[in-house]
Amino acid sequence: MDMDRARPRLSRRRLLKGAALAAVPYALLPDPRAGAQGAAVDYPPAEWQAASGSNYTVSVRPGDYTIDRVIIHVTQETYTDTLAIFGNPQKKVSAHYLVRSADGHVAQCVHETDIAWHAGNWSYNTRSIGIEHEGWIDRPAYFTDALYEESAKLTAAICAKYRIPRDREHIIGHSQVPGTDHTDPGPNWDWVRYIRMVNFA
Ligand SMILES: [Zn+2]
Repeated sequence: MDMDRARPRLSRRRLLKGAALAAVPYALLPDPRAGAQGAAVDYPPAEWQAASGSNYTVSVRPGDYTIDRVIIHVTQETYTDTLAIFGNPQKKVSAHYLVRSADGHVAQCVHETDIAWHAGNWSYNTRSIGIEHEGWIDRPAYFTDALYEESAKLTAAICAKYRIPRDREHIIGHSQVPGTDHTDPGPNWDWVRYIRMVNFA
């Protein structure tokens, strides 16, 4: 972006004053959602990677829907391809978070207030936060220590925020969503380890 070059004569000191701000055309002011990462994410360690607005439902949760579930997914795609899918308005799919296999890096793609389309079940979409994990259900090498650790920290933070019990009734796999034909996260996902980590995160 050329924002800085567009206002070369305005010093930082002058920008901090209201009068100077008034002289800057509105269009040049940073969009808080597109700008600083920290301003956009609900979970500070996450990097904002917006899903297409065609792939989720804007909402004001938990004002209109109680959030009482975390739903665990495995992507069956690479991290990069998953971000591209969430960003593609034709795909009609998204999740709030995506955790990268190699290092546990967390991307946030949908705000927690909004309803991501990940469960394949409207009721479960409205009541949950969806977390995707880079990997394949039949390739357990993708479920690295870093992925478990960073995902557990994220789920622990979500549970604390919405007072969700840290147990298997409330932290569920996509395969447990009523009516789904999805099998993720699959038999290689270590639930005992994961729930323990969420409780001690
Ligand atoms: Zn899934």
